[in-house]
Amino acid sequence: MFDFHVHSRVSFDGTDTGKDLALAAKAAGLRELCFTDHLDYDPLGTMGDLTFSTERYNAEYDGLSIPGLTIRRGMEFGLARDNRDQLKQDLRRRPFDFVLGSIHFVDNLDVYFPEYWQGKTVFDAERRYLEETLACVQIHEDYDVLAHLTYIGKTSAHPAPRCVPYDDHRELVDEILRCLVQKGKGLELNTSGMDRCGGFLPTAEYFRRFRELGGQIVTIGSDAHRCNRVGQYCREAQELLTDIFGYVCTFEGRKPIFHKK
Ligand SMILES: [Zn+2]
Ligand SMILES: [Zn+2]
Repeated sequence: MFDFHVHSRVSFDGTDTGKDLALAAKAAGLRELCFTDHLDYDPLGTMGDLTFSTERYNAEYDGLSIPGLTIRRGMEFGLARDNRDQLKQDLRRRPFDFVLGSIHFVDNLDVYFPEYWQGKTVFDAERRYLEETLACVQIHEDYDVLAHLTYIGKTSAHPAPRCVPYDDHRELVDEILRCLVQKGKGLELNTSGMDRCGGFLPTAEYFRRFRELGGQIVTIGSDAHRCNRVGQYCREAQELLTDIFGYVCTFEGRKPIFHKK
């Protein structure tokens, strides 16, 4: 089992130590764990610092080792239309095994909170989110895997959290998936939607379509910010992806490793 999306206290919104999370990962039966702390940039600058200090990152993880558990060091970078150079710069902070690309802001607003949702139907909110995602995956080159494609479905201000139905946004989703395929990027199955909107982010249908379009790289992440969430639903996720692809991926030194059934 693998969990390639975990936040420790190095992230602005994390509290637990790398060591405690790694011990929790071992206890949960994981073979491999990747820390993916946030490097996010609030476009209006009103939300405080959403990045981490490289010194704290290195102090937290370098030298961390748990027998029987492979520990990788990654980050979750907040993709925006205008921060390609920022990503290049952040990649020079230290060597990373894995870079998740995420979209958390649309039209300068954090989609997690009510302001983004004001005056929008659920359909509109989903559509704008996916449009922004398409723009970002077209612009960016330097990440490995797109995180939580249907993140919008679980946000706290959502009036009725739901897994974004593929059929409601079929053409737009296909364009995103095609772009990922073309650029050799992967798609994450984020398990945090299970308790928040009743399904994986995104759901199986998206992965079947990704496969049909030629997608090859797929990873699993719990998006845990606490020890008790590490590895959550990762077994179910692995079964699902192995059914569709015959393997799941982890990363080392920015290169995918394919783990067959
Ligand atoms: Zn995220
Ligand atoms: Zn995350």
